[in-house]
Amino acid sequence: MQVGTILMKCKSCGASLEINDEKQIMFCPYCGSKEFIEESDSVKQQRIKSDAYKTVEIGKQYFENEKNKREYSFRMTKFKAATIGIIVAIVVCVGLFCHPIRRFSNAFLPHKGKIQVTVSGISCDGKTLEAAETEFRAMGFSNITTSHQPFPLATLVRGEGESVFEVSIDGDSGFIKGDWFDPDAVVVISYY
Ligand SMILES: [Zn+2]
Repeated sequence: MQVGTILMKCKSCGASLEINDEKQIMFCPYCGSKEFIEESDSVKQQRIKSDAYKTVEIGKQYFENEKNKREYSFRMTKFKAATIGIIVAIVVCVGLFCHPIRRFSNAFLPHKGKIQVTVSGISCDGKTLEAAETEFRAMGFSNITTSHQPFPLATLVRGEGESVFEVSIDGDSGFIKGDWFDPDAVVVISYY
């Protein structure tokens, strides 16, 4: 018996016939009768299996497509996040080396070969010039200059006595205890 054929018996004459399973009408060459064929169970099962297989394949294809879409979308999200991350990193790096954010960078960047000041600028106010100069030299600063500023009103109150009123490091008089500077930073001690 060939594939795709069904073995049947003619209902009129009883002859054995092989017919194609796709045909709906059986013609008996022995007695000439025609008969409508109902699908046998085996044929039905074959058809259902085939349909189910097709459905599964379509489903697989659908999920494969969906998976690809999700993976693409995920990759794009990662790419965008990475791009934003790189931009933020560049901005932060540029910012870290800019003067206004130096204090912020001081907290995170390595301080190898740098000096951490033990006083804040404002605490130097009122010290004698000698005391202030000794203090900054002791911290390790070598580039110290002094600047005499006549300050009539204060001198009236305190008298002229080489009293410090401002210390700046690299132009920053707002430094605080714990800030980091290069040893060759310019320290200007202003006194009256
Ligand atoms: Zn027949």
